[in-house]
Amino acid sequence: MPAFPAPTRAAGLDALAAFLAGPGADYAAARNTDRGRAAPTTSALSPYLRRRLLTEEEVAQAAIRALGARGAEKFVSEVFWRTYFKGHLETHPRAWTGFLAGCDAARGRLAAEPGLRRTHARAIAGETGIDGFDAWAAQLVAENWLHNHARMWFASIWIFTLRLPWELGAAFFLRHLIDGDPASNTLSWRWVAGLHTRGKPYLARRDNIREFTEGRHDPAGLDEHAACLDEAMPPREVPLPPADAVPGGEVALLLHLDDLHPESLPLGNARVMRVAGLTASSEGAAEAVRAADTAAMADALARAGGHFGCPAEPLREGWAGDLPVVTPWAPLGPSAEALPAGCRRIRRDWDERAWPLSNRGYSRLRGAIPKLMGA
Ligand SMILES: Cc1cc2nc3c(=O)[nH]c(=O)nc-3n(C[C@H](O)[C@H](O)[C@H](O)COP(=O)(O)OP(=O)(O)OC[C@H]3O[C@@H](n4cnc5c(N)ncnc54)[C@H](O)[C@@H]3O)c2cc1C
Repeated sequence: MPAFPAPTRAAGLDALAAFLAGPGADYAAARNTDRGRAAPTTSALSPYLRRRLLTEEEVAQAAIRALGARGAEKFVSEVFWRTYFKGHLETHPRAWTGFLAGCDAARGRLAAEPGLRRTHARAIAGETGIDGFDAWAAQLVAENWLHNHARMWFASIWIFTLRLPWELGAAFFLRHLIDGDPASNTLSWRWVAGLHTRGKPYLARRDNIREFTEGRHDPAGLDEHAACLDEAMPPREVPLPPADAVPGGEVALLLHLDDLHPESLPLGNARVMRVAGLTASSEGAAEAVRAADTAAMADALARAGGHFGCPAEPLREGWAGDLPVVTPWAPLGPSAEALPAGCRRIRRDWDERAWPLSNRGYSRLRGAIPKLMGA
């Protein structure tokens, strides 16, 4: 398959329309089947949603308009998983810092343990001899994409059959995925390992892989009965940090890769006089991911300049003059880590309502979806 198109809002709206007119109608029944990117069963909207070139809210609403509340129910619930993971990581920041520390520790082990180093090298090169796994490793590097079910199988085989540290697998995903996202990625890997829903690992099974790849893959030798991982100190819950109020009057707006739809930001009475863009890709991100980040930011800056009728440029020293700097909330990850001090961080109503319901399991947020969508 060719690479993804440069992620712009226009490309995202086209992909949304194509999904709703095509695979959207059969999504609930077909979404677990991976037929490869040439015959999609899902929307492939994550590169746009991850950067908020499209917002979760507009995508969920468009699906309900096109497919009806019943017909869109499963899809909307999946979109809310993204919101849930964001809110969960914001209230469990140690899941993120623990992943980063675990990565450092696992890299230390790679340097010290030749057996582990060999297994890891074979896994990321797609040379383990495990049918399916090797193809997904190659697809991830070549196309920067995997179907959700393939991500689950891959992560499970990585952890339970190859017995590699999960943090190295999560880092491999973040490096190559075009939709690489600190919250969805870290918490999904933790979920597969049995650390998120504690004691309930996701174990990839040969017959399940055969069925949902329609016989393309039939891997022998998987450990289908492994015990889940455990950790001495599960990440503690902390209160959701409060957002800042939007100042009235003239402001400078700083965009970043977690929210590239400035047109719908809740800016109140603020008047945006200047816009800048901070492009902080994940550490070690592959060339194609960096190129996608750069293209997405260029698209957002061009739209922002037109929308607010002001200069919009990549971040540079002194860009804001004396104006107060407002920025959309950056959830934990590279953007939040790179934001200059002193920004006023504002939050969308969607996050403000959903994140407080995301501090435990997903079912609480799922139960609130009708109310959240109706509001
Ligand atoms: C081990 C593992 C790692 C993952 N890493 C990432 C990641 O780095 N970035 C990322 O965006 N997603 C990640 N996911 C979640 C999921 O696989 C992708 O969001 C999904 O495959 C994107 O394809 P789609 O747009 O066609 O999804 P669709 O099925 O069309 O769903 C629509 C949207 O809902 C959201 N969504 C759907 N399923 C999930 C899910 N399980 N978790 C969170 N959001 C979901 C996405 O925004 C997606 O675009 C990971 C899943 C696993 C199991």
